[in-house]
This record gives sequence, structure tokens and C-alpha cells, in this order.
Amino acid sequence: MLSSNALSWASAEAQSLAREVSKISSVSYFDDVQLSDALLAGQAQAACLIACSDMGAYLPYVCSDPTVKLHVFQNFGHSCLAGGVFETMAYTAIEHFIVYGHFDCRYAKDRDAELLEKDPSLREELERYNVLRELRTFADNATGLPLKNLKLHGWVHDKRQGHLQIFDPGLCAFVIAKSPQSLS
Ligand SMILES: [Zn+2]
Repeated sequence: MLSSNALSWASAEAQSLAREVSKISSVSYFDDVQLSDALLAGQAQAACLIACSDMGAYLPYVCSDPTVKLHVFQNFGHSCLAGGVFETMAYTAIEHFIVYGHFDCRYAKDRDAELLEKDPSLREELERYNVLRELRTFADNATGLPLKNLKLHGWVHDKRQGHLQIFDPGLCAFVIAKSPQSLS
């Protein structure tokens, strides 16, 4: 199915990773409003979100209602292997896990400098690529965790355009968040 919303891939490497991540059965589209609504209405008991530390303390589009159980982690480059993430997943019934990246990420540029040199077409989508790679890393490392109801989601904040991009495995691409509130 084609969607006018789907952001096309410039790099074959990124497209190939998107295909791979789309096959992970727990990966699904889930935007910021769906997450807030699910937590506030009690349809989801708890969620975990991991963002990059250079996004700063204020994370746009992330539910900040003090009554919901949303575990937020931040480290350099939204790494799920950093302290606390897997421990939280092991002892809390998390239903949604979100990797939240952002454009102009210093981490992504530093980490993948060599890759960018080899494949300059990756430059504009490096952060999307990074988020997908982290979802794959999580899925590869989470096999021992009791996660039967867990859904995985990938988000990227595009500050320049002022919108949120969500990975849609059905389209094998990121799309601009569907919810109208996301665009305000
Ligand atoms: Zn960053």
C-alpha cells in the first residue's frame, strides 16, 4: 500500500535495514497521541521510552502526565544496552517500548562517520537508520525477557520541520505522525 506520507529511503543500506526491522513481529506503528491516550485511559499499564541525551531535558511529544507509568531513559545515542533499560523491562510489565531519536544527532554523526563516508546518501536519514538499528539491537538482546505483550516502536523528532516521524512496518518506512495534535 502506498501512502503519500511515507518518507522514501535514499540509501539502499537504510532500506534494507527497514525491511529487516519490519519483519520483527513486535514492531508496530504507534504515535505520541496513541501512547498518551493508551496510558491515560489505562489501556496500557506501562511504557518505556529511550531518547538521546543531546535532545535535552524537554522531550517533545512525550506524555508528561505525572499519573502515568512511563519510564524515560536518556543516554548518549538512545542505547537500549545502557544501564537500567533491560532491568526495567525484566521487572515491570512494559507494553510499549519506544526508541526516540532526533535529527542533527551528534552521536549518530560521530558513531557512523565511516559509514557516512562510504555511503553519503545515508546523511539525511542517518537518525532514522540509527533508531531502526536500535530496535533490532533490542529485539536481538531481549530474547530472555518476559515480553509477550511488548510492542516496539521507532520515533524520530525532526526539529527543523517541527514534526514527529514514526516507523510504520506495514510501509517499511517512517511517516509523519498521523495524529493532527502532533502537528501543532
Ligand atoms: Zn542525539
